[in-house]
Amino acid sequence: MQVIKYPNKKDWKTILSRPLIDNDDLEEVVNQVFKEIKLEGDKALQKYTWQFDKIKIDKLEVAQKEIDEAEELLSLELKNALSVAANNIKKFHASQYQETEIIETTKGVECWRKATPIERVGLYIPGGSAPLFSTVLMLGIPAKLAGCKEIVLCTPPGKDGKIDPAILYASKLVGVDKVFCVGGIQAVGAMAFGTESIPNVYKIFGPGNQFVTAAKQRVSKLGVAIDMPAGPSEVLVLADKSANVEFIASDLLSQAEHGVDSQVIFVTWEELLVEEVQLAVERQLSKLSRKDIAEQALQNSKIILVSSLDEALELSNEYGPEHLIISVKDEDKCVNSISNAGSVFLGNYTPESAGDYASGTNHTLPTNGFAKSFSGVSLESFMKSISFQKISEKGLLELGPVIEVMAKAEQLDAHCNAVSVRLQKMREEAKR
Ligand code: NAD
Repeated sequence: MQVIKYPNKKDWKTILSRPLIDNDDLEEVVNQVFKEIKLEGDKALQKYTWQFDKIKIDKLEVAQKEIDEAEELLSLELKNALSVAANNIKKFHASQYQETEIIETTKGVECWRKATPIERVGLYIPGGSAPLFSTVLMLGIPAKLAGCKEIVLCTPPGKDGKIDPAILYASKLVGVDKVFCVGGIQAVGAMAFGTESIPNVYKIFGPGNQFVTAAKQRVSKLGVAIDMPAGPSEVLVLADKSANVEFIASDLLSQAEHGVDSQVIFVTWEELLVEEVQLAVERQLSKLSRKDIAEQALQNSKIILVSSLDEALELSNEYGPEHLIISVKDEDKCVNSISNAGSVFLGNYTPESAGDYASGTNHTLPTNGFAKSFSGVSLESFMKSISFQKISEKGLLELGPVIEVMAKAEQLDAHCNAVSVRLQKMREEAKR
């Protein structure tokens, strides 16, 4: 990890930049794949799965029998763990449901919003370097709670050409309707435009690498909604002497092992911690099974020494991390000062992995600074709200003149007239 001591504020933007590949090239690839999917459908999906994943896929949809049999391939221990995690995720997301409330804005004028599920949704489950079955829970549970009618799932084939049984088991557990073995740009394109096998959906959810994220961003410009740009994982750990150095290193590495394009940042104002954390990272890194991936991610990563807690918080808000871990004495001050972060983990005993798997919060979060304007996935992400209003005669008598004045001022006579004809009728009836 690169160590940067007391950086000048004007250099923050450069220091905090994410490791991105050339976006122009990426856009070209995405456009080409999409063009072929629209023309060739499934054939294009098979072609690109061969090109990018080096796997020949004959049948894109996973048979129900294979999904049912996945359960036997999992240990009881893993199934129990999935059940605990699923319950917590369900509890937390169910609590996000908001009752419809009717508001009387003016006497006789009632307005309300009714949340309705998005009927058809597509879930992308990353699987390039690790089969993220936890993401099935994170997306499938709120989709089901929201009441989405059709839930389809795409995930890339593993090295053996198959989907990991834990992904299949989790899909059944949460009630996914159809599972397809296809990943990357081609999966996003298929769910957006539809092919012979894969139905098109109204909104696509899920994290992924830079290819997946670029494809999602492209479809969002073509009329298909997306949850957010949830790209390569990142964490910012903010700590003082009250933190445990081994814990800090373990949290940094837990994100670094996600992918070579992940980024981890450690920020402190305690000079002593800089070397201690560096040494702890090296020590723990050597024991990891995904050492090679984490090692490359660490090359994009930084340890930043600043002059105070206030400066650390300002820097963190400027970065807008997907995950923010705070291990400092003055925790309350930090909580009140956070303005940009996807998900926050407080205290020495709240590892980021808890939110990744089982505490109940969602792990599909905005990356690449999008935490400045996006929230992570929630129950609401699977719904949209329709606004309603009902105005009584008395209500229109009260509000009508206001509308007439405004419509006239905007020179929209027909708008004004829609109110005037009603008021006129009421006045005539009143005279009789
Ligand atoms: P993935 O499923 O996102 O991507 C794999 C697919 O990428 C492959 O199927 C392949 O088709 C495509 N691909 C690979 N190389 C390509 C190339 N050169 N050109 C075009 N397409 C190519 O799986 P992954 O690669 O393991 O990445 C998972 C990502 O998800 C990681 O970056 C991780 O950090 C991120 N993640 C993010 C969050 C979040 O909430 N933001 C949560 C979990 C994981």
